[in-house]
Amino acid sequence: MSILVKGGAVLSPTGSVAADVVVDGERITAVVAPGSWPGTVDTVIDATGKYVLPGGIDGHTHMEMPFGGTQSADTFETGTTAAAWGGTTTIVDFAVQPKGSSLLSTMDRWHEKADGNCAIDYGFHMIVSDVNDGTLKEMDACVDAGVNTFKMFMAYPGVFYSTDGEILLAMQRARANGGTIMMHAENGIAIDQLVAQALAAGRTDPVQHGLTRPPELEGEATHRAIQLAKVTGAPLYIVHLSAAQALEAVAIARNDGQNVFAETCPQYLFLSIEDLAKPDFEGAKFVASPPLREKSHQGALWQGLRTNDLSVVSTDHCPFCFVEQKELGRGDFSKIPNGMPGVEHRMDLIYQGVVGGELTLQRWVEVTSTTPARMFGLYPRKGVIAPGSDADIVVYDPNARQTLSASTHHMAVDYSAYEGLEITGRVDTVLSRGRVVVDGDGWHGAKGHGRFLSRELNQYLN
Ligand SMILES: [Zn+2]
Repeated sequence: MSILVKGGAVLSPTGSVAADVVVDGERITAVVAPGSWPGTVDTVIDATGKYVLPGGIDGHTHMEMPFGGTQSADTFETGTTAAAWGGTTTIVDFAVQPKGSSLLSTMDRWHEKADGNCAIDYGFHMIVSDVNDGTLKEMDACVDAGVNTFKMFMAYPGVFYSTDGEILLAMQRARANGGTIMMHAENGIAIDQLVAQALAAGRTDPVQHGLTRPPELEGEATHRAIQLAKVTGAPLYIVHLSAAQALEAVAIARNDGQNVFAETCPQYLFLSIEDLAKPDFEGAKFVASPPLREKSHQGALWQGLRTNDLSVVSTDHCPFCFVEQKELGRGDFSKIPNGMPGVEHRMDLIYQGVVGGELTLQRWVEVTSTTPARMFGLYPRKGVIAPGSDADIVVYDPNARQTLSASTHHMAVDYSAYEGLEITGRVDTVLSRGRVVVDGDGWHGAKGHGRFLSRELNQYLN
């Protein structure tokens, strides 16, 4: 199957170029001046007046993730299908090590869930929740298997939490084997005390989730993680950064030349603690950790994206239905499953940053595709429109209008965090490894098309 994507503006971090893109089989074989391709093809896609960009890479998803007796609502099939609808053609999902189990059995478990079920390509990060001699050794085997990013938690005592000593040991191992430590940086020990005080005082509404996790405790944990990384020499990637205090710590480390990186998520750019405070338990729809912040943080986050102190936008897609899942926390905010849906709308939402003048077109592509490809060892197979790269291609209509809604989205969750939001821009056509999976309103993908990506090491290390 050969395809010519013609007449569009091909985007990359360095610019926008009028060009035609030739696809043969699963790969891009040529990028040529408009109208200059002499060969014949099976299919022509007219991208006139549209952008042609490398498929989005969402480096932070939680499909079928166990949490507090339930699991996140999207399966690998529904979640990757929704991702494709929104122009994302690769996800990196978190395999979750339960305490008392091994990393390699955890990886096997995630392969059982994902293999044969994904509509787009996928890789794994490994959540290390049980640090001991055995799991430290297993980290090396994970790196060999293409899972070289290890997430740890300074939050959730008794569940995923690691002590500073355990983090230090895992960082030393990552320093030796080339892995990168990813950190959920919130001071969970202090937060748990604030949560207990709130519940004891009868403050049980969803907004308390935000009030008991103040931004200072994200800033403190981020700073502490950075110091541990400095002592050990390990690369560090701060996930879902939400607070100006945390961004400041990251910026200082980066100015210092340390291998410290950070991502933020659309919910921290577009939503706030005011959403968490919505009445009638509506706020539960917006419970995620770190929590949505005061709006005053949003400007700092956009600026961080411009200055590259924030290098990546991921979603932390972890959907729980309002009915029966979020409702587990009625009367006790600490029992609301943590997480929000988002994998389908990341490309669209960050494009609103272009529409609103916060980001350039080039930066949009960089933070949603090219940088995650390099950060997670997938470049140049992914993250760029170039000969030899996988034909993961999005044709994007910059002028179309759409309204985000649970009634039209493809995620298996009964609400949208952006219900009724009218936006500019819309995915038109999506190719995943040379296969047209989305064509206007038509779905032509299939579960099992997506392949596991054994990833190389982080390409940004100095
Ligand atoms: Zn997460």
